[in-house]
Amino acid sequence: MSFPTRIIPSSQEIWTQGEAEDTRYYIPLYDYPNDRTTSEMVLTVPAKWITISNGQLLSVKDEADGTKTWDWKQSEPLSTYLLTAVAGDFVEREDSWRGIPLRYVVPRGEESKIEPTFARTKEMLDLFSNKLGVPYPWAQYAQTAVDDFVAGGMENTSATTVSVRDLVNPKLAPELRIGDDVVISHELAHQWFGDLVTCKDWANLWLNEGFATYFEHYWLEQHYGADEADYTFWRDQSRWFAQKRLFSVPLMTRDFTDSTQYDGNVYTKAGWILRMLREQLGDDDFFRGLHQYLVANRGQNVVAADLQRAIEQATSINVDRFFHQWVDGAGAPQFQIQYNYDDKSHQVTLNVAQTQKIEGSVGIFDVPVEIEIATASASHTYPVEITEASQSFQFPADGPPLMVVFDKGDKILKSVDFKRDPALLAYQLKHGSTAPDRADAAFALSAARDNPAAIAALSDAALHDPFWGVRVEALKALGQIRGAAAEIPVVAALDDEKPWVREIAVRTLAAFRDDPNVAPKLTTIAAGDSSYRVRAAALRALADVKAANAFDVLTAAVSSDSPDGVLRDAALGGFGPLGDTRAVPILTEWSAPGKPVNSREEAIGAMAELDKGNQAITQALLSYLHDTHFDLRTAAIISLGARGDTSAIAPLEEMRKNGDLTMGEGPFIDAALSILKARPAAK
Ligand SMILES: [Zn+2]
Repeated sequence: MSFPTRIIPSSQEIWTQGEAEDTRYYIPLYDYPNDRTTSEMVLTVPAKWITISNGQLLSVKDEADGTKTWDWKQSEPLSTYLLTAVAGDFVEREDSWRGIPLRYVVPRGEESKIEPTFARTKEMLDLFSNKLGVPYPWAQYAQTAVDDFVAGGMENTSATTVSVRDLVNPKLAPELRIGDDVVISHELAHQWFGDLVTCKDWANLWLNEGFATYFEHYWLEQHYGADEADYTFWRDQSRWFAQKRLFSVPLMTRDFTDSTQYDGNVYTKAGWILRMLREQLGDDDFFRGLHQYLVANRGQNVVAADLQRAIEQATSINVDRFFHQWVDGAGAPQFQIQYNYDDKSHQVTLNVAQTQKIEGSVGIFDVPVEIEIATASASHTYPVEITEASQSFQFPADGPPLMVVFDKGDKILKSVDFKRDPALLAYQLKHGSTAPDRADAAFALSAARDNPAAIAALSDAALHDPFWGVRVEALKALGQIRGAAAEIPVVAALDDEKPWVREIAVRTLAAFRDDPNVAPKLTTIAAGDSSYRVRAAALRALADVKAANAFDVLTAAVSSDSPDGVLRDAALGGFGPLGDTRAVPILTEWSAPGKPVNSREEAIGAMAELDKGNQAITQALLSYLHDTHFDLRTAAIISLGARGDTSAIAPLEEMRKNGDLTMGEGPFIDAALSILKARPAAK
């Protein structure tokens, strides 16, 4: 991003974004993380504007010409990518925590969203300060929501910037499971990990992002319960493995361009590594190590060895092997598991093989796991250490196992190929003691075909598991299995008390599209569920099943009234999979400048799928490559790739070359170009 080449004349705000190396575009400086400075930001703005910057607000002075000058001073040195200046026609709400001013700042008109978005900030400040033994270290904590931001949030020292798109509408708050807590806790954790102690170079970026990701989950665990955190890690794990490109790349790498260092390794995998570290050290030693790391390196720039040293000093536990395989190395163990039970010796033999390809920085892993074996009489858990490519373990069992769980509680980042009889999986789904164990069983049962016992177990879990995440996984598995018997519990789950479970039930119902009752059910839900997110999911599902009435229902929803336009946006997005060319004028209208950004983004995405020979649509998408909104430029790039009109190649190549790209745009253009170039030429 270059500042200030892109000026939006109608905009009522100014903001900077420093990370990674863009502060140099408005202040002449060295601009790399390993340089720290104090700062003073003097900002003269229209009288009704508010400004936010790092540190302490020293004064606000009235000027003779009717403007005001704000003077901000940051006394403790910070890395220059963490400098910030925000100014605009904002509304501010002030609060305080242990004598430190808290500021919640939003664009005028968004005031009602302050409370539902930021209300838990003080609890997070308490939790992180107390657990780390290092109180929140800065003179203020401001959180400012700006339009059209280029990131989910940015942890500028003492003055986080977030996007207005993160703000929680009070009318939607009850149906959002955790509000915007992921972003709020992530950026707050950065105030210690990233701001107080800062990575020395981008190769060590995981020391910033891994901790921020970890503390999102830690907040979930402490505030919403361990199941929430464990289930989030469980989903993160499969998402990380799905991004195959990341597997062979070490956590610490210098091989990146175009902001690709901000990938799933430094966030997801690094968060997982800290989960494993806590698990292996135990709670007391883990937090003792983090305390030492923060105290010893306060105000300094760090590399991974500084974290390792702090942990070893604070705990006297050698973590060399752990750091070598997870931090210096790449990949994760990919296990193939097989067991048999010997009725004579009353023994279970578990054969464990690591099947990951050993090459480059990927080696054989050394990991502790727990094996749980349940028989008719009892359940026992055995800790074992896996250190080799292939190992066998023997466990006593007083009868044939009803359940064999490998890595109970999902404590190790790994993939597992472990074929078991559906009866064992059904038992695990019912009796597994942790949410990941039951979710694993639900997922594995999705492969069972023509098995009434599997459907019965999934049905029971979908409707009765105490944790909503397992109910969701059971529903998804039933959607994979399909058929009349699997549909019954999915329909029953449309009455789940939690909107986020009903939403999945609605989406899953689309898998049963051959049933003529599905479309009428979805139509009823789209019109009348008590939750907007469920109604939005029903609109989308009507499009997915290409219901006869879908065009009319979606068209009506476009002109309906809902908080933040969530129903309208779901309908606009649904026109893509519906593929009805009558939607072209609607999408053209709603993709155009002047409409709300979320609506435009949905319309631009849907345009990829419609009337593929229609050059006017391609031309409209090409015009959005130069839109003032970052998100819409990105949406247009993706949509042009998906649309497959090769006439977009030249304009995309021109955009790639001209150099004025916002962070992360380059890889999106490359991806679109590679799709388009793989197609036979138009004509
Ligand atoms: Zn971050």
